[in-house]
Amino acid sequence: MANLVAIVGRPNVGKSTLFNRLVGHRQAIMDNESGVTRDRHYGHSEWIGKYFTVVDTGGYVVGSEDVFEGAIREQVQIALDEATVVLFVVDVDAGMTGLDEEFAQVLRQTDKPVLLVANKADTTDRHHMMGEFYALGMGDPYPISAQNGAGTGDLLDQVVSYFQSPGEEDPDEGVPRIAILGRPNVGKSSLVNVLLGQERNIVTDIAGTTRDAVDARYKAYGKDFILTDTAGLRRKSRVKENIEFYSVMRSLRALEDSDVCVIVLDATRGIEAQDVNIIFLAAKNRKGLVILVNKWDLVEKDTNTARDFERAIQARLEPMDYIPVLFVSALTKQRIFQAMEKAIEVYENMSKRIPTSELNEKILPEIEKTPPPTSKGKYIRIKYMTQLPTKTPSFAFFCNLPQYVKEPYQRFLENKIRQNFDFTGVPINIFFRKK
Ligand code: GDP
Ligand code: GDP
Repeated sequence: MANLVAIVGRPNVGKSTLFNRLVGHRQAIMDNESGVTRDRHYGHSEWIGKYFTVVDTGGYVVGSEDVFEGAIREQVQIALDEATVVLFVVDVDAGMTGLDEEFAQVLRQTDKPVLLVANKADTTDRHHMMGEFYALGMGDPYPISAQNGAGTGDLLDQVVSYFQSPGEEDPDEGVPRIAILGRPNVGKSSLVNVLLGQERNIVTDIAGTTRDAVDARYKAYGKDFILTDTAGLRRKSRVKENIEFYSVMRSLRALEDSDVCVIVLDATRGIEAQDVNIIFLAAKNRKGLVILVNKWDLVEKDTNTARDFERAIQARLEPMDYIPVLFVSALTKQRIFQAMEKAIEVYENMSKRIPTSELNEKILPEIEKTPPPTSKGKYIRIKYMTQLPTKTPSFAFFCNLPQYVKEPYQRFLENKIRQNFDFTGVPINIFFRKK
């Protein structure tokens, strides 16, 4: 049983700050204008040799009071269902509010350990301010400052004392994270539903906040992967304003957190500017990429339709030409599973390592045949190359005058690498170094 620590509390008490402190890096979207959607927030952490997963259940969109009641219930429910320990965060600076009391009322009904965390106790002279929270009936508050870290050690000592097992170091380590991205209405939800519907082997289903942003870990088709579903935001969100903004934010977050981005297009609309933007952004972030042309069932086809469609896409993405394109239909379930297999294959391509000898054997003759053009009357000699031990496949070419190699030749080398080794869907880096 994995150890799971859930952070609950009303908005602005510092839940996401605490989450970031525990998990060690920025993961939540910070925004002080309350009413912000934050998507999945779970991350892994360790304290004195015990490993645990932290879930920030907050960050729900909070618009009005009536929405809030539902939000509390949902948040607390997730916490109670899944958590080993619940951290109930309050704000000593703001003092106690009615919402704190509402949270407490629900939390008092659980038999899971709930620790009352008095946040924003940045200095010890702020500790006296936490006295009023005894009235919540949740036991002694733990004064902490999520911002500067004060008190978090004592809190964590207490947290880990509830764990039955040391936990797993990182249960998701090495598991491909696949994000399904695309404009509204291209069929993202439908695709995910096909996957969810047919494949019931969901190992974990950690709902960070609400049902609309779900990370699910699948063991399917002999593969293990985590799917980040950014779909369904518009419909399920209860706040109308700024949805576009937050849906973009959410997509960006999913993009950043993923290994492979599956970009869904609508076959009846072709590739549009927004699609191109997100593809370039993913490539710039060195993510693996797969393009799915969905709603293929709606297209009247002859023998060349797919080829022409693919060419039209490639033309928009030039000079990027390494992204696999699959024609799928969520409606008829055509090629959906091949699509996921392709995404996993792209992930595997990302971690591919070509031995230096093999690389030189294949690429040096190409360089001899087509050497770099002279630049300012100087000859550029590439002596050998090697793949660097980086996450994104990167190749260093050692030569006499690295600064004189121009971009077209760099592209030539990239093409030669791609022709000789399968890096489908994967961006690669090329560097020139002095030798
Ligand atoms: P959430 O809505 O509960 O997730 O709250 P946030 O983590 O977004 O924090 C709300 C505000 O409180 C932000 O401006 C934080 O910088 C601030 N904050 C969070 N923790 C602390 C703290 O320990 N001390 C102080 N002074 N401010 C904090
Ligand atoms: P999302 O906004 O990207 O999540 O898109 P949805 O999954 O909600 O789909 C938008 C609309 O397209 C819905 O009416 C779906 O039924 C429809 N749709 C999705 N996939 C397909 C498909 O493969 N073929 C057809 N004909 N319709 C589809």
